[in-house]
Amino acid sequence: MPSLKSADAIESNAQYLTRQARFESSVRSYPRKLPFAIASAKGCWITDVEGNQYLDCLAGAGTLALGHNHPDIVQSIQDVLASGLPLHTLDLTTPLKDAFSEYLLSFLPNDGNDYCLQFCGPTGADAVEAALKLAKTATGRSNVISFSGGYHGMTHGALAVTGNLSPKQQVQGLMPGVQFLPYPHEYRCPLGLGGEAGIHALTYYFEQFISDVESGVCKPAAVILEAIQGEGGVNAAPVSWLRRIREVTLAHKIPLIIDEVQTGFARTGHMFAFEQAGIEPDMIVMSKAVGGSLPLAILAYKRELDVWQPAAHTGTFRGNQLAMATGMATLKYLKNNKIHLKVKQQGEWLKDQFRTLQNQHDCIGHIRGRGLMIGIEIIDASQPADHLGSYPADPELAAEIQTCCFENALILERGGRHGTVIRLLPPLTITDNELNQLVQRFGTALQDAKVRVRGLK
Ligand code: PMP
Repeated sequence: MPSLKSADAIESNAQYLTRQARFESSVRSYPRKLPFAIASAKGCWITDVEGNQYLDCLAGAGTLALGHNHPDIVQSIQDVLASGLPLHTLDLTTPLKDAFSEYLLSFLPNDGNDYCLQFCGPTGADAVEAALKLAKTATGRSNVISFSGGYHGMTHGALAVTGNLSPKQQVQGLMPGVQFLPYPHEYRCPLGLGGEAGIHALTYYFEQFISDVESGVCKPAAVILEAIQGEGGVNAAPVSWLRRIREVTLAHKIPLIIDEVQTGFARTGHMFAFEQAGIEPDMIVMSKAVGGSLPLAILAYKRELDVWQPAAHTGTFRGNQLAMATGMATLKYLKNNKIHLKVKQQGEWLKDQFRTLQNQHDCIGHIRGRGLMIGIEIIDASQPADHLGSYPADPELAAEIQTCCFENALILERGGRHGTVIRLLPPLTITDNELNQLVQRFGTALQDAKVRVRGLK
């Protein structure tokens, strides 16, 4: 058993990691890829217990829209503490909750006039559970349609509508009645068609599937999707596909749940990713940035779906006042500074930089995403391409790139099938100078990883 010195005698990352392995379960995942212990953080920078500084392009998996310890966030917490407001209120209201609710609704389509809010237990997954349950209650139906590559969380219902098989296969008896349909993919069209033809065929298939009286599948209680899949490898749904899904679900009175847990609040250059398609979801799942660093999850849904009985979806921690204060501070900062415009512009610049790198490194197969939600798919171009010109993914190299980025003091995540998509989710407050550093560090790490994995100079 590793020795357990008391915490004040510990100085190194390695010592903390040894103790963490002793204290915590084998479920630990980030510490295996990012092996350090954090001492402090400010803006886009994290300092470990050994004094090393890292550029953080993971930002709490997209949660920290304003970066670490933004002055407005810290001030909002101090204001609550000074005000004497209770920190925990179940679902009872307070002046702060009242103001936050009104302000949050103003971000939704039609200023939120058609929507109401359900404060959930403080994780994205719980808000997904609420959405699924409400759709079933409101329609009296049981099936749910989801999409390949989708990610909606780790609880039984949310996991059932998630694409990734690896965590699913180990758990029997997930929520039944889920049908998966193929989600568009710019680089790896699931129908093997590619381009506009692929998108058109996927759209046609969705419509057929819903209206075909011989499809074998009863009309669903809901369709759930991300407008840009995050964990699934940063796949943006084409606008035409999203619009058609909306038209078909409306025509068949099927509630459309759009999961904006990762994409919400300016991340993609829009307040919500669905805005790009000009559509109105029936339900919008929000978490991560809406809590401005602290745990909060909220489901917004059209008033006509509000058939819940009182207490139909409860949760003790629905009333976290500090999270509402930090959420409010975040929303105000994003709106007052028109951050979505900056994010859009920076995202385009960043993709250009990666395209330049792509010209030098044939292991970059595809660069995609919107705003500051960017994915870089790592491929093995020494293998034959498929009929669409796409090369096999290279999981080993992608993992090594993440390791080398960490060694070059750049924190980022991987996602997508077999973890072959490098994912960037920096704070939305990141400066152009910091983005430059990101590109430099990434370029160095890419070179280092190629040398290690392929022995290439
Ligand atoms: N939906 C999406 C789109 C997500 O990205 C996530 C988390 N990465 C979730 C749901 C689940 O959120 P949580 O981990 O807070 O339960």
